[in-house]
Order: sequence, then C-alpha cells, then structure tokens
Amino acid sequence: MKDKFVGKNRIPMHPHQFQPESLMMSYGYHPEWSEGAIKCPIFQTSTFVFSSAEQGKRYFELAYGLKEAEEGEVQGLIYSRLNNPDLEILENRLTLWDGAEEAAVFESGMSAITTVMLEFLRPGDLLLYSTPLYGGTQHFIEEVLPEWGINILAFSPSDSLERIEECLAGSGNRDQLAMIYVETPANPTNTLIDLEWMKRLKEGHSVHGKEVILTVDNTYMGPLWQHPLKHGADLVVYSATKYIGGHSDVIAGAVLGSKNRMQRVKKLRTFLGNMTGPWTGWLLMRSLETLKVRMEQQVANAIQVAHFLQQHPAVERVYYPGLLTEHDGHQYQVYKRQCSSPGAMISFDVYGGEEEAFAVMNQLKMIHLAVSLGSTESLVQHPYTMTHAGLNETEKLQEGITEKMIRLSVGVENINDLLWDLGQALDSVLASQPQTAALIEEA
Ligand SMILES: *Cc1c(COP(=O)(O)O)cnc(C)c1O
Repeated sequence: MKDKFVGKNRIPMHPHQFQPESLMMSYGYHPEWSEGAIKCPIFQTSTFVFSSAEQGKRYFELAYGLKEAEEGEVQGLIYSRLNNPDLEILENRLTLWDGAEEAAVFESGMSAITTVMLEFLRPGDLLLYSTPLYGGTQHFIEEVLPEWGINILAFSPSDSLERIEECLAGSGNRDQLAMIYVETPANPTNTLIDLEWMKRLKEGHSVHGKEVILTVDNTYMGPLWQHPLKHGADLVVYSATKYIGGHSDVIAGAVLGSKNRMQRVKKLRTFLGNMTGPWTGWLLMRSLETLKVRMEQQVANAIQVAHFLQQHPAVERVYYPGLLTEHDGHQYQVYKRQCSSPGAMISFDVYGGEEEAFAVMNQLKMIHLAVSLGSTESLVQHPYTMTHAGLNETEKLQEGITEKMIRLSVGVENINDLLWDLGQALDSVLASQPQTAALIEEA
C-alpha cells in the first residue's frame, strides 16, 4: 500500500513532526482509496484482485522473499491472512507510540506472546522469565514449552541482578539462554523490573551469531507510559484487549520491534493464521484515536484514588508506583528512569483477609467486579482467588499476593463517583465487621 505519510520524518512538504495522538486519525490512510471516506472502511474481504497476472507474480515474489523489493516498492495486497488494509494501517499507527520499526497485530495477546516464543525458542534453549506473569503466559511457559524441550528458569522481581546471575550460573544451561521475558510492573504487586539490568544480562549472554532476545510485555503500562524498546528491549508485546482496545469489547494482541525480527514474527503469523480480522483491526483503529485522552484521564483518576485509599482506615497498604519515594531506593530509581507515569493499576490490602476483601468488592455500586484491565470502566478483582488462583501457596506468598489484596483498574469515570464508591464500600466493611476495627486498633 502506498502511504500518505510513508514513515517517520517523511511527511511530504511538512517538516513539522506530528505527535502520535495527532496522527491516529489519519496516518497511513488516503481518503481517495475509499470514495473520499474520512475514515478507513472495514475491508471485509478474504482476497484481493490482481490487475494482471504479472502483478500477481510480483506480489508473490516479494511475499515469499524470492526477490528483493525495489526502492520505494511495497508489498501488494494478496490475501487477508497475509495482509489487509485494516491490519496494515493499524500496525503503522501502533509503531508511532513505541518508536518501533514494525508491528504485527494478533487475534489475542496470548497469540502474540506464544508466536514470539515459538519463533525465537528452539529445543535445548533456555528461557529466563520474571514471575508472576500473566496467568496464560506463565502456563504456556511452565506447562507447554518444557514439553518441547525448552528449558525454563524463573526469577522474582525482588531478586537482585547478582542473584539472577547466580541462578543462571547454577542452572547448568546458561550458555543456551535464548530469551529473557519480563512483565513490568509485575501484576498485581506493581513491583518494577529494572530493564537496564535485563539489558545487561542480555548483552552479557549474547554470543556472536546468537543474540539473546529481550521481550517485554508492556500491557500494564500501555503504549503511553513506558517504552521498553528505548530501554534495550528487542520486542514489546501487548494484550491489545487492555489499554489499546480500551472498551472491554475486543480481544487482540500486538508485537513490536525491529524490521528484521518482525519479519520473522509476521512470517510465523502467516502460517499459524492468528492475525486479527479486519473488523478487529478497525475497532482497534477507532480505539487508538482516543488512546491518549483515555489513558491520561485514567492516570489522573488513579493518582487521586491511590492517595484516597492510602489514607482510608480500612486499607492496610497500597501498591502503586505513584506512591514510591526516595526511601524506596532502587524501585523508585527504576520508576523514574523507566516510566513516564505511574499508570492506572492499583492494588491494595484491606485489613483482614478474604472475607473483608470480598465484602468491599461486593459492596461496590458502580465499579464492576471483573478481570481484565485498562478499559474505560473501573474494574476490581481478587488476585488470590481469581487471576492468580493458578499459583501455589508458596508462590503467592513469595510475591506478596495475599487474601486481603484487591486489584483495581481505574477507568475514566468522574473522580468523585470513584471516590464515593470506594469510600462507601470500605466504610461499610469497617462498620459491619467489628474484627476489622479490632485489627486496625492493633496496627
Ligand atoms: C490480558 C493479558 C494478556 C493476555 O492477553 P489476551 O488478549 O487476553 O490474550 C497478556 N499479558 C498481560 C499482562 C495481560 O494483562
């Protein structure tokens, strides 16, 4: 496809560099392609007509890498499992936030993640990963990859770089390290992982001809608040179901990185057939137009909510990067270096245990009780018995996931409504449960 803006810094006759939020409405799309329609239509088609047999031949030569593209020549549309305007334009727009060379969109976050692992890991390789990870990812790593002869080694966000190096040395297959996979901040504790450390690990263990791939799941911070590619990551993965989609109405995923690596990811995607359909692509383009305003409202709300929770007598502890101070040492430094915002995911412990946490969640009037995150509506859930139910007791306690913890994804609602709802739910627990009052007395 011919782009109106053929890439960063190549906007014809406009030396001005537009910001991503300005480009989300138009980048990569020409109204002339669609009868002047200002919005990119849904190209609900499985296949594309070639203007001649010669053109069809040429498109396949490029698609199969049989011939090199000439200067300025772009891959033509062939079949919607390989490419489709709604996917390509969406991918071009997604690259702008993270400063990536290329992006690929998938039918789910899990398909994005598993495709990356399948492409860059081979039997005998070692995968080093942070825990806890998103439940689906951790299951795939721990239950599926070993069946295919891939060695795995977990570390905790609280481990020092020296400790991780020691574990690697003790693993017996340090030399086979092929990928480091992390989620930062960790879900649900918001513990940050130092990407500078991960970069050092990666560089220290890459050998000529075999580079260790650093992959970061950036779902928790979305494309706005943290840009792992700028901190040494090779690939960034997203569940686009979360902030990118942002309306709890679509399941999708994305991978971003350099051209070379993304060509490998896209090739495997073609054969697995797990790309998004045109309708999902269109929905995500629509979502991207409001990504920044949504996320900015969410973080503004989250900051106020975190402070409110911190001073509420029914709340024992709040986990939120925005509450870190110099006294938190390394965590604070990583936060300052790596994140441009504290995000809109807050976890907090109520005094008591499951009973008190459940009472608070059941008492909420506006905030919904559901898993997922990053959407316009605020959601609460109970990691111990819900998203992290698959971890064993020791793992949960080691990560600080207890029965008294509630995870809150802050939406775009009016801040007074959010504070009122949380306040009345927490107050009601205080009032109805004398044992909670007693616990607070003790503390
Ligand atoms: C939701 C989520 C995923 C999985 O994405 P799906 O779109 O549900 O497949 C992966 N990682 C994180 C951090 C998530 O929150």
